[in-house]
Amino acid sequence: MTEFDTYLKSAPTQLFIGGQWVDAENGEKDEVVNPATGQVIARVARGGAADTEKAIAAANLAFLEWSETPADQRAQIMRTIADLIVADADRLAAIMTIEQGKPLAQAKGEVLAGAESVRWYAEELRRIYGETVPGPNGQLFLVQKEPLGVVGAITPWNFPSSMITRKISPAIAAGNTIVLKPSPETPLSATALMAIFQKGGLPDGVVNLVTGDAPAIGRVLTQSNAVRKIAFTGSTAVGKLLFGQSAETVKKVSLELGGHAPFIVFADAPVEKVVADLVSSKFRNNGQVCTSPNRIFVHQSIVETFTTQLAAAVRQVKVGYGLEDGVDAGPLIREDAIAKIDRQIADAVAKGAKLATGGKRLTDGAFAEGYFYAPTVLTGVTNKMEIFYEETFGPVIPVITFSGTDEVIAMANDTAYGLASYFYTADLKRIAKVSKKLQYGMVGVNSNTVAYTQAPFGGVKHSGLGRENGHQGIEEYVNVKFINLKYDF
Ligand code: NAP
Repeated sequence: MTEFDTYLKSAPTQLFIGGQWVDAENGEKDEVVNPATGQVIARVARGGAADTEKAIAAANLAFLEWSETPADQRAQIMRTIADLIVADADRLAAIMTIEQGKPLAQAKGEVLAGAESVRWYAEELRRIYGETVPGPNGQLFLVQKEPLGVVGAITPWNFPSSMITRKISPAIAAGNTIVLKPSPETPLSATALMAIFQKGGLPDGVVNLVTGDAPAIGRVLTQSNAVRKIAFTGSTAVGKLLFGQSAETVKKVSLELGGHAPFIVFADAPVEKVVADLVSSKFRNNGQVCTSPNRIFVHQSIVETFTTQLAAAVRQVKVGYGLEDGVDAGPLIREDAIAKIDRQIADAVAKGAKLATGGKRLTDGAFAEGYFYAPTVLTGVTNKMEIFYEETFGPVIPVITFSGTDEVIAMANDTAYGLASYFYTADLKRIAKVSKKLQYGMVGVNSNTVAYTQAPFGGVKHSGLGRENGHQGIEEYVNVKFINLKYDF
């Protein structure tokens, strides 16, 4: 048995309810597959409605004490958890790479970012400030923030650790308790984290985990009156469904949904530097990122030089099993992800786009059993092609040529999504104009990164509601209460 097998076996495969690891009530299990090898690596409890009810009851009970636990004590437990995650980062990263596919270094980066999120909110919880407002007739108006109650969190497979820590950290920091449903593709990263939260001293029932039947779990979470908030990261279609389902019980909802980020390269941008930024950003998690640059707008005066350098750089991207050294891009998550990319490329080529490199599934040798795809550059892309409007979620770079600033702003905004956007230029007046006009929750100016623990992360339009990270992240997990105080009768 290798150390990686040992790591894998160390992740629990049961539900975590009220501080206990338990089987699903119906005894069913789901298989977890390694996307690099196609092999089944674990069987995990397939929970459903009854298990979710139990988890909500456990969270509701735990809320009574946790919400009253002094802030310093909550902070201390969270700091311990952050330290434990850091100390265990190699094991957690290996588990993630095996079930999700991303290269080990990226997996470790994600685990450490998660620890940072726990630490950040351990500090931030001591700054959940209220206000005093002068009222009429000698009254003092107090504005206080208090926890919501039980939070239902539903997370995707592409960031199987940090999408969880981004929700759990502000939620428990503010005194809430939580029921988490992680993705069935990546449950082991979630169970391994839960075990660490338990080891760190979090009281039973503060965090609970139910893997399994998504529609059944989602329905119970959204319809329960005890659950006061749904925090969701995933596709826009499922986000809209959960938003609708939550209406009946009038919950707070935050939604981190799909994106289709524009990446605009103006004529004065340094081509070599921008190509390097684009390649490192696009092949992070093999393009399976909601903030991945998906539509690359390049000024006509530099488009030839840019695409030549880009195709050369993309040919250097090393695809492989994420546990091997030097791999830049792992497999895609599932077979259907390959079918979607094949369809987008076939549609674009049929309508006049050209393949500068890539454009096909990799099947030779070590790639035979996994879901690998050649890093791809498409040129001559237009808004007549599906790839212009549909989120890609894979290793494809579509290049679109533009000539004017207003024209490119209009093209960049021509999408239902509004999560991340990027542009490169040294012209200050243009920076001011474009960053104002882009209809996005986040704008990277001469930068390919918009996700930081200390800065608000989230989208507009069909990309979602609410913000994670930053001091704004904790506001999503509190109610504002107004108290009118008179000192005498
Ligand atoms: P997804 O299909 O929407 O799934 C996300 C989660 O929702 C999974 O746990 C899934 O479980 C669950 N789910 C599906 N149907 C449900 C239902 N009826 N009720 C309750 N839960 C349900 O998304 P994905 O394919 O995992 O993730 C990719 C998407 O996430 C992309 O669109 C990406 O842009 C977006 N994303 C956004 C952000 C952001 O911060 N804005 C970050 C990362 C990813 P099952 O798999 O069991 O159905």
